[in-house]
Amino acid sequence: MRALHFDGKLSLRNLPEPRPASGEALTQVRFAGICGTDLEILKGYSGFRGIPGHEFVGEVVECGEKAWVGKRVVGEINVTCGECDFCRRGLERHCRRRTVMGIVDRDGAFADFLVLPVRNLHEVPGTRPGPG
Ligand SMILES: [Zn+2]
Ligand SMILES: [Zn+2]
Repeated sequence: MRALHFDGKLSLRNLPEPRPASGEALTQVRFAGICGTDLEILKGYSGFRGIPGHEFVGEVVECGEKAWVGKRVVGEINVTCGECDFCRRGLERHCRRRTVMGIVDRDGAFADFLVLPVRNLHEVPGTRPGPG
């Protein structure tokens, strides 16, 4: 797949498609936003290496939970393990294995495809709300 890759320098690469693990969904990115955090990452913020990008709209193309396939989605970018001592106490924000898509230890949205846990996805309705 096409992907923007950052390793101190930004380059357009042809990288293997990510594979969704159990409980994850493969999403085809339709739109990705660029924000100030991305510009900071390119200056070295967070020491990120990989595919940046954390604001996106996409369509689920592969998922063990079939009801998600074909849905238009956005995603919560903080990914927690659900198993460490903090997660088990309901303190997911302090998860010892927390990653942040496109910012900390997890590939992001500046690519044809991305993977996130299903519990991180929010469906985006297919129609716009009408006037009034
Ligand atoms: Zn942002
Ligand atoms: Zn955890």
